[in-house]
Amino acid sequence: MSASQEMNRTSLLEVKDLCVSYGKVEAVHKVNVRIGEGEIVTVIGPNGAGKTTLMNALMAALPSAGEVAYAGHRLGERRSIEQMVALGMNLVPEKRELFSEMSVEDNLLLGAFSRYRRGFRDHLQSMEEIYERFPRLRERKRQAAGTLSGGERQMLAMGRALMAKPKLLMLDEPSLGLAPLVIREIFKVIESLKSAGVSILLVEQNARAALRVADYAYVLETGSIAMEGPAKALAGDPKVIESYLGVGA
Ligand code: ATP
Repeated sequence: MSASQEMNRTSLLEVKDLCVSYGKVEAVHKVNVRIGEGEIVTVIGPNGAGKTTLMNALMAALPSAGEVAYAGHRLGERRSIEQMVALGMNLVPEKRELFSEMSVEDNLLLGAFSRYRRGFRDHLQSMEEIYERFPRLRERKRQAAGTLSGGERQMLAMGRALMAKPKLLMLDEPSLGLAPLVIREIFKVIESLKSAGVSILLVEQNARAALRVADYAYVLETGSIAMEGPAKALAGDPKVIESYLGVGA
């Protein structure tokens, strides 16, 4: 992408000088992040770098300082999760956080609750779309979420988030603990979501897979952005190869 095209990308999210602290300890320090409409942006980095903290702060699940502009709104520091969901932001947490006693279908319906409360009645149509994207979930719709395999749980967590029809889907370690074939399936879905116009912020330990699907990438180290650039450029950068991709990348 040329510099002028880069400038023309419409921003969905722009974060400036974001700081997040746990008590006296600052976990995220002056982070600037930008996500263009319809882009996949990835944040890679070692354990404890602050990736989950960053996503939770964007979602307003944690208090933060800094400027957040999202979907044409300048948002103050007193944002709420409900407000962010209503504006089309949705987070699939690393632990997936499903209701394990409830069926697959009921977990999906809960994902549409916020839209329902705002007067939308398109949840059955949305559920049909989710089943088309994840046929495995249709096969298991009456099964309790707690009895699903790891891959199916990740699909259900993503499906539930998609029931809210997000503009920006944030995925925290979607490949964590999954077998290679399932990881490939999850990444295919991530790419197909981009084609459907959903913007994605992807946090991954699996840097190789993340850089393959992403348009743009940030490397977060000890709470600060250490490097950034188009994903292809970072995938070829010797420092990234040495630290995150290993030999033979
Ligand atoms: P991982 O890849 O291991 O999940 P991460 O990059 O997502 O790591 P975070 O989970 O955001 O990193 O953690 C960033 C830093 O903040 C770490 O030093 C962690 O110990 C600290 N931290 C995270 N949650 C809390 C909390 N609830 N209270 C205090 N410190 C926390």
